[in-house]
Amino acid sequence: MNFAERDLRYIWHPCSQMKDYEDFKPIVIDHGKGMYLYDVEGNEYMDVISSWWCNLLGHCHPRINAALKKQIDLLEHVIFANFSHRPAIELCERLAPLLPKGLEKFFFADNGSAAIEVALKMNFQYHCQQGEPQRKKFMALTDAYHGETLGALSVGAVDLYSKVYKPLLLDVIRPEGPDCYRCKFGKTFGKCSAECFSAVEKALAEHGKETAAFIVEPLVQAAAGMKIYPPLYLKKLSESCTKYGVHLILDEIATGYGRTGKMFACEYASISPDMMCISKGLTGGYMPMAITVTTEKIYNAFYSDYREGKAFMHSHTYCGNPLACSAALEVLKILEEEKILEKARDKAEFFSNLVAETFDKHPHVGGHRFIGLINAVELVKDKENKIPYDFRLRLGYQVYREAVKKGILLRPMGDVLYFNPPLIIEPEQMKRAVEVCRECIDIVLERNKEFIL
Ligand SMILES: *Cc1c(COP(=O)(O)O)cnc(C)c1O
Repeated sequence: MNFAERDLRYIWHPCSQMKDYEDFKPIVIDHGKGMYLYDVEGNEYMDVISSWWCNLLGHCHPRINAALKKQIDLLEHVIFANFSHRPAIELCERLAPLLPKGLEKFFFADNGSAAIEVALKMNFQYHCQQGEPQRKKFMALTDAYHGETLGALSVGAVDLYSKVYKPLLLDVIRPEGPDCYRCKFGKTFGKCSAECFSAVEKALAEHGKETAAFIVEPLVQAAAGMKIYPPLYLKKLSESCTKYGVHLILDEIATGYGRTGKMFACEYASISPDMMCISKGLTGGYMPMAITVTTEKIYNAFYSDYREGKAFMHSHTYCGNPLACSAALEVLKILEEEKILEKARDKAEFFSNLVAETFDKHPHVGGHRFIGLINAVELVKDKENKIPYDFRLRLGYQVYREAVKKGILLRPMGDVLYFNPPLIIEPEQMKRAVEVCRECIDIVLERNKEFIL
């Protein structure tokens, strides 16, 4: 048996219809270096999606490797209740000044969804302990994505992930979110006054008193198809939450760490939330770790004599794992010393221009949106009227398979094709990725022409 067959003998892959693997076998990776992955047969793949948006500085980065090797000979793991260690402390010290003002208490978890659960539980408990137990609802936007454990799925709204579980989920208040490609107010991106925010304002006016927190992905609804909305919307949201005494939780798991051109996306709106969840880029894509960061005010509502039962009784075995912390600490050093964000910002303009030149005139590619190095486009049947193809054709998936053959790792979400590369991508690599993507789109459209034209 080869590696792929041995894999399929045992492994149930995430987010996959395993039947698809019958004629598209798992690609078994042997090693990685920078932008590239190499499979056991020696084929090369350029990773332009940062391996599920977490790889920040390329695969097998020499400095992060060295930091981990050093840490592993000191301490691999220790219980994080009552015990602590240098990497966690130094990580917090280094991260604190980079966060929005007021966020200074760090609660560690081991994946993004868990950090969201922490935020939801912490918010509810806060209000209970402040004498407002009626604040037991959460509010979130349509097309939100916050992870896949039951609480995180509840606040999310991407049917693909949550539909079948609806009978199990929390009852969440869900005002309609922004949709800048198919704007209901007929505006163009960047030339609006976030008119669509009125839906949220209305929901807050109606349900503000029973709401514990509003959770939102700042500026980019990533899993919904890299839907991007303007900072003004976020600013309005922050102001309205304050007005109604509703906490604001920013899910910066996908948008943090320079993905949008700033360290955190919320900097574009100059706001400070009550809580922020970070993960993905946090360890450079090395180790599973997440942090829920919050304010002194929220922290203090849990701080009292043990007998009063106000402690936050939440833990994960791998909370604050020292290896993960040492990787995360090295990531911050690299970002600063090598001026990664500044350089990525310069490259971002080149990249978005390149994507625009390549696709703006393409008759079946529309909706180009970008922020930082994130660029997304949609396959559309009717470009003028922005009409999508029948999802059952799985055109995006077909493009993915073609691109893999040509050595580019894309992972479209439905018919949304996007690039979300490590921040170290070079212009020549951008050119190749975009060119291959265009070629693959044309191959797939040609192959399907009897169904789609
Ligand atoms: C990936 C992601 C999560 C969930 O993180 P996991 O580590 O996959 O559980 C939550 N929110 C956003 C915005 C994400 O992109």
